[in-house]
Amino acid sequence: MAVIEAAAVVNTLKGAADLIDKLRGSDDRDQLRAGVASLADMLVDARVKALDLIGDRALLIDERAKLNERVKALEAEVARVTDFGENSQKYERIRMPGGKFVFREKNPPGGNAGAPFFCPQCFMKQHISILQGRIIDSFHFCPNCKWNDHLNE
Ligand SMILES: [Zn+2]
Repeated sequence: MAVIEAAAVVNTLKGAADLIDKLRGSDDRDQLRAGVASLADMLVDARVKALDLIGDRALLIDERAKLNERVKALEAEVARVTDFGENSQKYERIRMPGGKFVFREKNPPGGNAGAPFFCPQCFMKQHISILQGRIIDSFHFCPNCKWNDHLNE
């Protein structure tokens, strides 16, 4: 669009230059008067189109800045999802004695006994959050999303 408008400005200016060349050789007062009026119209037209282009350019620069921000945000999101996808392979979903599902590392250092459980709700949202729990009644809660349950019931 801007290219077409820029070409129109150039064509208008070329038309004005051609008219000037034509008028240079004229001694006809009426022809000169009409030519000057035409030149004035052409220059106003070119000026309006040029101002539109400047406005379009400012909008395009603004739009490009917004798109660049969006691209950066999407790249960060892709990196986060990719990292989670690779990291999530280290975890497995396990069913607790009471039938509830949580996540645990597949091979926790020190073995499964005492290994932390991870919040199922956060895991589905691609976030790893360690469940906090009480030994006495197996009540566990997520400090991130506030999910909670008694895992042995
Ligand atoms: Zn959670």
